Amino acid sequence: MSENAVEKSLNLLSNKWKIEPEVYELHLGKRNDVIDTPISVNKVMFHIPMLTSDKLYILWKCLWPDCHNCCDRQGRLPLTKDDIRNIAKKMGYDSKAEFVKRETIISSWQEQEIFGNVITNLTTLSLKRKDQETQVDDGVPIPCKHLDVNGSCKLHPQKPGVCWLYPFASWLESHQGVPVVHATFQLTGDCPGFYASKSIDDMMPILEEYSSRIFEYNMAVSRTTREGYASISIMDLQKNKF
Ligand code: SF4
Ligand code: SF4
Repeated sequence: MSENAVEKSLNLLSNKWKIEPEVYELHLGKRNDVIDTPISVNKVMFHIPMLTSDKLYILWKCLWPDCHNCCDRQGRLPLTKDDIRNIAKKMGYDSKAEFVKRETIISSWQEQEIFGNVITNLTTLSLKRKDQETQVDDGVPIPCKHLDVNGSCKLHPQKPGVCWLYPFASWLESHQGVPVVHATFQLTGDCPGFYASKSIDDMMPILEEYSSRIFEYNMAVSRTTREGYASISIMDLQKNKF
C-alpha cells in the first residue's frame, strides 16, 4: 500500500476517531527511531514496534462493536482451503466448485512487513466483497457485502481466517530447520485501535488470544499452498533470499 493511500485512509479515520500523533507518524514512516520488540507468546513470535525517543510501544485493541471499519473498507479477503469449505457451507452451497465460481476471485499481491525486512508474494483465491467484484477491485477498500446493518459479520464464526487475524499480518519462516510463525501489525490506516503505551503489559492477554489464532491460520495457509490452492513466496531481505 502506498504512503499516500495510508495517509488518505488515516485522514478518513480521523474524521471519527482520535489518532495519537505517534501512531500517525509510525503509519506514515515518519519515525526513524522505531525498533522491533520481539515477544514470543506460545508458538508465535510477535514483533511490536517501539519508539525509542519517546520510550513508547505502539499497541492495539479492537474497538468493535463501536467500530467495524475493517469491514467497511475491506481491501481483499484471501481464503484458505478450510475457509473455502466452511464458508461454502455457511452460505448454503452444496458444491464447493459452485461456491468458488460464484463467490471467489483470484488475487495476486505483495506485502512488506512493518520493519521492511520480509516481502511476501501471494496469489490466492479471495472471497468476493461485492457481487460484481473483478480484478480491478483487488486491493481497493470497499464495504464487504457480508457485513450486516448492525455491524456484525453474517459469516461469523465462519468468516475468513484473515478477518480473525486483522490487524495482524503473519508469516512462516524456517529457523535452523524449525518452522517459526511471526506476526506484526498491518499499518494500512484503516484501524483506529492503535495506541501508544509505556508498557506492553496491557496487550499481553490479546497476544495470548491471537497467538493460537495466528498459529492455526499459518498451518491452514501451509495446507492451502501445499495442496495447490494458493502460492506464497517469502523474501527475507536481511538474509537476502527467497
Ligand atoms: S480491528 Fe480495528 S478496524 Fe476492525 S473492528 Fe477492530 S478496531 Fe475496528
Ligand atoms: S467477511 Fe465478515 S468479518 Fe470479514 S470483512 Fe466481511 S463482514 Fe467483515
